[in-house]
Amino acid sequence: MKTPGRLLFIVILLVVCLACLSACGTVSLASITSTDPLSTPAYILVTANPQPSNTPFQPSRPIDLPLTANPNQVPGLAGPTDTAAPAATEIPSQTAFASATDFPTRPPQATDTPLPTFTLVASGTPADSPTGLPVKTATSLPPTAALPPGANLIRPQYVISALMNYSGHKVTVSETVLYPNRTGAALSGIALAVNPNLWNGVFILQTLEVDDQASTSYTLAGQWLNVNLDTPLQAGQAVKIGIGYQLNLPYSAAKMENFGYTARQTNLIDWYPFVPPNISGKWILPDPYPYGENLVYDKSDFRISLSFSDPANPPVVAASAPASSQNGARFANQIVYALDNARNFTLSASTEYQVSTADANGVSIVNYYFPGDGGAAARVLDMTRLAVLTYTNEFGPYPHQMLTVCETDLNDGLETDGLYFLASTFYRAYDGTVRNNLSTIAVHETAHQWWYGAVANNQAVEPWLDEAMATYSERIFWGDNYPDLVTWWWAFRVDSKNPSGWVDSRVYDTSTFSQYVNAVYFNGAHFLDALRVRIGDKVFLAFLHDYFARENGRISSANDFFSILDLHTNTDISDLLKKYFYYR
Ligand SMILES: [Zn+2]
Repeated sequence: MKTPGRLLFIVILLVVCLACLSACGTVSLASITSTDPLSTPAYILVTANPQPSNTPFQPSRPIDLPLTANPNQVPGLAGPTDTAAPAATEIPSQTAFASATDFPTRPPQATDTPLPTFTLVASGTPADSPTGLPVKTATSLPPTAALPPGANLIRPQYVISALMNYSGHKVTVSETVLYPNRTGAALSGIALAVNPNLWNGVFILQTLEVDDQASTSYTLAGQWLNVNLDTPLQAGQAVKIGIGYQLNLPYSAAKMENFGYTARQTNLIDWYPFVPPNISGKWILPDPYPYGENLVYDKSDFRISLSFSDPANPPVVAASAPASSQNGARFANQIVYALDNARNFTLSASTEYQVSTADANGVSIVNYYFPGDGGAAARVLDMTRLAVLTYTNEFGPYPHQMLTVCETDLNDGLETDGLYFLASTFYRAYDGTVRNNLSTIAVHETAHQWWYGAVANNQAVEPWLDEAMATYSERIFWGDNYPDLVTWWWAFRVDSKNPSGWVDSRVYDTSTFSQYVNAVYFNGAHFLDALRVRIGDKVFLAFLHDYFARENGRISSANDFFSILDLHTNTDISDLLKKYFYYR
């Protein structure tokens, strides 16, 4: 789930831009309801952002956040933190990133094509890097290296070295992407999704290389970085793209959640350029929207090195994977992470974080929370642990060794692969019981590790595949662990909102966050429950298990969902589809 607010600035910018254009061919969202879906090209972003405190998940009473640092600053607008030049001393000490030479973690290959290995090293006087960006030294990757038969380069690979100026809210990054062309067709260019470039003045591109050669043949606009290739990348070949950039982080409060910093937290979410999936020759990078999520991810491998410009006062860092380094030792002022087969890699840093841990049958749950919220955090930890056990049993294995939970100043909750965020407002409102948002939304976000992380989908176009599934997974959780509270859950979580609307609404088909959630999440839960009643518990749960097994690692679709369902039942559900689905 992602709450409204993140893209308010986009709305504002687009409204300004649209004011300069004629209105022909556009449709105001004010006239749109979830029963009247628009065709994809027709929507425009003109809807004012709903107040974040009025989301269906927040406590009804307002809760003051201790946001003292510049709460009125609009991300991306001119301000001292947005315009200051990077300090000349911000030079990442990358020489110790020895694990980069171990990347990728592939089995030996019987081939004379060298494996793409590279070392990230610091340079004190980089001629083309006036800001002190680390210079990447390539050692062996030939241009557009051919993938030999049997090569194990099945996923894009990211090596990212980041220097964080925590108090200054800047991150200097050297990134290398190794992208294998598995599309089956030649590619004349590579698209990268650059979420930070949706903010004004946040993403500062400094260097771009293609196969170790500096390139100026690219365009950067909005969330799209299109890199042109001199020679098409043939199917079965890989290309190496090096990107140097600085992030001038935006202020991110409850009003502007997600990526950015608050008074006590820095969240790096979708913070690096990544190659979106290419399906049938098209890059899958749906437009952002004021609420909901829009990004789609291939599974990838990550090697992340994080260091700090003020090593004497490093923040506590939460991440999608355990900190590690060569020989198991942590280098001074440098944290190294490795995560394979993941949708993305998220970092959250705070000087205030406290930590607790639990074990869920071999999966480490690492729980970061703020002082004073220990009681609620203990509940979050236990519900997350229980949910991992429940979903491992009901759907299939959790794909990673660790799941991280971060209390956050953003609204509601937000899933990323291996790490989810949960709003401080829920911690503050915690009543000591399990019957609250804190508990069930912790369960919801945990379920996204199965429906979003393992089984992905197009979150903008078919959001029900992760959101209805995660919401109904709450129902499964309560049924398995607290059967006496299932009735409470339906009333509290779902029916108190009087849900309505098409379950398969695209995010663009809805005009308010509540309308979106009522249709996709809550009516989606009703559809899945009606399906369960229609085909029976045993068939339904066997189907979910099979759906997970077949789609694990893939980007699933509604067609996949119903095709696999057809393998399990011949029961007529046409009336359910007619009642709940617009596009089927
Ligand atoms: Zn969700």
